Amino acid sequence: MRLVLSSVVLTWLLQVAQPLCSYGASHAVEEMRIAGREYARLSDWAKKNDFTVHWTRRDEALELSSSAARVLLQIHSPEAQLDGVAVRLLFPLIQQGETVWISLLDLKTTFEPLLFPPRLKPGAQLKSICLDPGHGGKDPGNQVGSSQEKKLTLLLSQELQAQLKRAGWKVSLTRTRDNFVELPSRPEIARHRNADLFISVHFNSIAASANSVKGAEVYCLTPAGAPSTNAGGDDAGAGWFAGNRYNDQNMFLAYELQKNLTRKVPTDDRGVHRARFWVLRDAVMPAVLIEAGFLSNPTEGRKIASPAYRRQLASAIVDGLSAYRSSMERGL
Ligand SMILES: [Zn+2]
Repeated sequence: MRLVLSSVVLTWLLQVAQPLCSYGASHAVEEMRIAGREYARLSDWAKKNDFTVHWTRRDEALELSSSAARVLLQIHSPEAQLDGVAVRLLFPLIQQGETVWISLLDLKTTFEPLLFPPRLKPGAQLKSICLDPGHGGKDPGNQVGSSQEKKLTLLLSQELQAQLKRAGWKVSLTRTRDNFVELPSRPEIARHRNADLFISVHFNSIAASANSVKGAEVYCLTPAGAPSTNAGGDDAGAGWFAGNRYNDQNMFLAYELQKNLTRKVPTDDRGVHRARFWVLRDAVMPAVLIEAGFLSNPTEGRKIASPAYRRQLASAIVDGLSAYRSSMERGL
């Protein structure tokens, strides 16, 4: 779903805009309430965080760069990139005259956890992962020809389990055979096993444009008050769930997985997205859902069916998890 602000809607939004006070004492960031939502002036935020901003296409696309990161943004669009990895914003950027506004929720829950990653408390370590092979039993998931998502998610999870064990992780699975597990039971199993991280594994399918749509995407839980990518905007304002306690870790984990998947596997970068999937809402540890490729794409579907390609996918996921772990434990 693409969020596009029509000029009529935009004109209305700007008419109801109200200035707010600034946050930050030394570097003031001007804020504005637009249609009930808080936005910050992008150039103020950039200055406060040592980024320079310039248009790559006047009134269309911007680049923020610092010694540490490069962010690409588009006006009236939720599409963004951080260091070459696609990340979907919660709300499109708004341009008003010379001023570009970005939602405070995107600054706080999309960019700041990636630019200033969270850290574990000193001495704390990440050791155990609960893998959740999507679907199973009476729920086959996506089916394309003879290919069933439930079988492939279990195969990829088993490969991942083997590789993660070699990398020193303690690993458990929410199912180890072709049985049905209720969605709410899955994060519950992770909680019972005291898992530090929860990773749900899925494969995508699409009816239209099956020949052209392919690639990996990683989901984390939508922050309270924002719409999910997959909900057509109609769950805006949806509330807080247990999983929202880990908004920062969720985002950083999703990003590290997406980065490693798209850099190490020859697949398209479909970006980091947000959704209120059952398995993410109730997780009491950082949690993500990986859509590792499209069964509906004939080329990608064939690859996913091959053990060699699944080894490659698993290896990229292990690298993402290792990067996340070493960054989180850096405070030691
Ligand atoms: Zn699925």
